[in-house]
Amino acid sequence: MSILVVGSVALDTVETPFGRVEEVLGGAASFFSTAASLYSQVNLVAVVGSDFPTEYLDLWRSRTINLDGLQIHEGKTFRWVGRYHMDMNARDTLDTQLGVYADFHPILPPTYMDSELLFLANIQPELQLEVLQAAPRARLTVLDTMELWIMSAREQLTEVIKRVDVLLMSEEEVRQYTGKASILKGVRDLFALGLKYVIVKEGSYGALLFGADGTYFSAPTYPLEEVSDPTGAGDSFAGGFLGYLSTVEPLDNARYSSDDLKRAVVHGNLIGSFACEDFSITRLRTLTMDEVAARYKKLVEYSHFDATWRLS
Ligand code: AMP
Repeated sequence: MSILVVGSVALDTVETPFGRVEEVLGGAASFFSTAASLYSQVNLVAVVGSDFPTEYLDLWRSRTINLDGLQIHEGKTFRWVGRYHMDMNARDTLDTQLGVYADFHPILPPTYMDSELLFLANIQPELQLEVLQAAPRARLTVLDTMELWIMSAREQLTEVIKRVDVLLMSEEEVRQYTGKASILKGVRDLFALGLKYVIVKEGSYGALLFGADGTYFSAPTYPLEEVSDPTGAGDSFAGGFLGYLSTVEPLDNARYSSDDLKRAVVHGNLIGSFACEDFSITRLRTLTMDEVAARYKKLVEYSHFDATWRLS
């Protein structure tokens, strides 16, 4: 089952306490595509400028990533500059330059039309809406966003939220968007907009899956000895989540069993953990499914506890 994604493709400059990289491959759709292509074919919708290094295009062509919907425009590629401190769960955005995204309109090639899974990765909400409307065959739609759009494009973002099945937000973004201090209350407000699932990302503490049907699951994170750069962990999470679901036959009408949804969240956490081990997509490039499977086994061992209640 192929996965359609629209989102940013960027050149990132990132500084962490453990190093600095300049103008390396970044962007939400880049992390997502590289991660999800471990599972299935990805159909990428994005734009880059004439300054975009061709080595990255060659890299994606060598994986199962379809670039028919990637436009190359005269001008500058999206650029983002960020800095992390010792607590890598928070970061400062120092600069965002939309470049060719400022007047981009996505075009979905005919080869993308059979995509049943759609990921609206981080980018202007009006572009996410355009792709959502152009992909009516998508059976499961998943949305990600970030503080910039919550603050500057709230109305358009709300329109997108009302039309998708699953929303990914960090704990902080849930508070920013809903104005509720309690995550449970905030998530309840989000369900009032019609969502089926909300996944709350908690950085190095894991992720929470909430279902409008009452589903609740707290997924642990894989403990990492060293985090080099958490940039793209959220997009890689989405790549693992949707990547896993792309390998599963839904029950009906894109309804998945709660076991599969839980497994998908765990895949998300694991792929996110790999992404943090190096800058840019460096670790994802060499990642194998055997390595993911080994980490899956460890995580079960680390988080399983006896279901029998006992006081002795
Ligand atoms: P994440 O760490 O998962 O939130 O994703 C980080 C990636 O998002 C970086 O590679 C940036 O290039 C990209 N990014 C940063 N700001 C924006 C934005 N406003 N819109 C779209 N993508 C962004």
